[in-house]
Amino acid sequence: MNGCVETMRARTGRGFYRLGLAAMLAILGACVTTPVTGRKAFNPFPISDDKTIGAQGYAEVLKTSKLADSRPEFAMVKRCVDRLTAVADDPGGFEWEVHLIDDPKTVNAWCMPGGKMAVYTGILPVTQDETGLAVVMGHEIGHAVARHGTESIIQQTGLEFVVSLLGGQHADQWGMVGNLAISLPNSRSHESEADEIGLIYMARAGYDPDKAIEFWQRMAANSGGAPPEWLSTHPSDATRIEDLKKHLKKARAIYAGKKSWAPKP
Ligand SMILES: [Zn+2]
Repeated sequence: MNGCVETMRARTGRGFYRLGLAAMLAILGACVTTPVTGRKAFNPFPISDDKTIGAQGYAEVLKTSKLADSRPEFAMVKRCVDRLTAVADDPGGFEWEVHLIDDPKTVNAWCMPGGKMAVYTGILPVTQDETGLAVVMGHEIGHAVARHGTESIIQQTGLEFVVSLLGGQHADQWGMVGNLAISLPNSRSHESEADEIGLIYMARAGYDPDKAIEFWQRMAANSGGAPPEWLSTHPSDATRIEDLKKHLKKARAIYAGKKSWAPKP
């Protein structure tokens, strides 16, 4: 049995055997291969749902945030994101966009489903430079490209609910479901996958992937035992660094061919 269906069975448990024809048809069209890692994922949501959910969430955040796009740092943020998205895989018509949010107390950055991003000014002292930010944004873009947001909905609500949702039932709950996609903490496996994708993307974009290790070491030193909010659902820094090292050889080989793109010190 292929890995995708096995994954879906594991997530739906006994419900798998109660699924009807509509569900089986949804399953057949819902096995997707995750870029970079090659993982077979089960995601019956069309890409347009990722984009709609992300755009709605983005509009909500921007409405209540003070933007800092006129600051000099924004040029660096934009350049970093442009370089990463130029080499990132596109699951289907993602419209990448980034804003800098003026919030020095928030050590955070994210990429919504569909490619809408924000960087909070509070993370810039930790990232330190463009390469440090590329570690973070490569990871966040990795979540969006791997479509972890909509995939999480299935893990939380179950396959039967999702199939009926896509069939037009539960339409009144669509807003709640969309919020789930952007607010659920990512699972440990999603975090590791985003790390791997981010490492490859930063190398493709000409950023030294070894700097990812340095960034996480810096983060570990800065966190003083209590991880900042945006990392609270992430693997421990030590685990993350060990996992990243497994992918460094491949990332270094990619970076070796891209060094001429690297930012000037
Ligand atoms: Zn993450």
